[in-house]
Amino acid sequence: MIWSTKETLDREQIQRIQLKRLKKTVKYAYKKVPLYRKKFHDAGLDPRDIQSLDDLKKIPFTTKEDFRNNYPFGMFAIPKEKCVRFHASSGTTGNPTVVGYTRHDLEVWTECMARLISAAGVTDRDTAQISFGYGLFTGALGLHQGLQRIGAGVVPLSSGNSKRQIKMLKDFGTTTLIATPSYALHLVEVARAMGINPAEELNVRHGLFGGEGSTEAMRTKLNEGWGMQATENYGMTELIGPSVSGECLEYKGMHICEDYFIAEVINPETGEVLPEGEYGELVITPLFKEAVPVLRYRTRDITALDSKPCTCGRTTMRMAKITGRADDMLIISGVNVFPSQIEEVLLSIDGIGSNYMINVDKKGYLDKMDIDVEVIDSNLLDSVSSLENLQNTIKNQMHAVLGIHPGIHLVEPFSLKRSEGKAKRVNDMRKLKED
Ligand code: ADP
Ligand code: ZN
Repeated sequence: MIWSTKETLDREQIQRIQLKRLKKTVKYAYKKVPLYRKKFHDAGLDPRDIQSLDDLKKIPFTTKEDFRNNYPFGMFAIPKEKCVRFHASSGTTGNPTVVGYTRHDLEVWTECMARLISAAGVTDRDTAQISFGYGLFTGALGLHQGLQRIGAGVVPLSSGNSKRQIKMLKDFGTTTLIATPSYALHLVEVARAMGINPAEELNVRHGLFGGEGSTEAMRTKLNEGWGMQATENYGMTELIGPSVSGECLEYKGMHICEDYFIAEVINPETGEVLPEGEYGELVITPLFKEAVPVLRYRTRDITALDSKPCTCGRTTMRMAKITGRADDMLIISGVNVFPSQIEEVLLSIDGIGSNYMINVDKKGYLDKMDIDVEVIDSNLLDSVSSLENLQNTIKNQMHAVLGIHPGIHLVEPFSLKRSEGKAKRVNDMRKLKED
């Protein structure tokens, strides 16, 4: 179901709304946040210089560093007493990024969530279990609000205790699962270990996944494992939370809530705006935020845009699956490698599970990449010849796709550490050695 008429406007109508809201946002940010005033002054720019959507490219970027440097409330346009909610992103190093919400911010966030949840096929007849961790993380409450808005039933289980997750899904006859894709795959294994085949014995038909990337191969595993239609959605704390974009059931990219977010793709090295269809770093300007306005936020996520209307009936611009982060690209002996490429290869090979760990280190001066991969059947580890065969298959495929020869170590099922939130797939020891 298409939730809002705003999802089917023609481009001219969408752009008219965007321009009007952009001008307002720019003036507001300039007036209320010293950081933007300084950025404009440094660039010799005045808010009145922004007269067309094309003028957007004149505006300086905002980065995660800006949030960190202005921790906790320096990016706020209003006194924090006027906020009705706060969230923060995990921030593995240094200060977390803190955001606040007014009632209106929450309202728009919820509206965008309702659109994405509807696009994923969920209706007021569905019951949804939220297996994201509740807390400062925006994922759980974002989906929670949107599901309530469309009238679906929410089971706010939060993350952790995987056996209980399965028991609740079963006992409640839950139809919809909200989680990170890696955790949803892990839950399939847990269910099977409990003697339950999720595709046949559970009623979970919709999966709304996000918070981290996933590949088409992973989607196939999710769809088959659960007997569901898995979709992914995208967003981030600095921009509001999840709700920037989400897939419809045509699987042709994630529809952007364009009346509330302007998307651009830039060359991450030069900052230059790239033509539609080219891959680069996604830059987003939210057009509605009262508490924490953000201009041209550099997401570090790599994607491409497509403004052609979708066969689902929506006309909003779509963004391709995120192929990596501008900053998670690994350089192995001069070769650029995205962890998502490695995952794609691994998931296309029979006999191995969906859990792996990429270890990067230095041997002398040379980079060395080793990948631990779980096999599905531990008996395989007892047969030297089948083990070697499988190892060689993986090595050859990796070489064909990446042009490098990583070491492959097949390990026991369930032996790698599982994550209940975002999976950690890369262990780069080189970084530690540099410090
Ligand atoms: P979230 O609640 O969306 O995880 P965070 O602010 O903690 O918010 O993290 C945002 C980052 O998570 C994004 O910049 C992106 O790298 C990653 N992310 C979120 N959703 C997706 C997705 N569907 N595909 C790939 N990466 C995603
Ligand atoms: Zn569509």
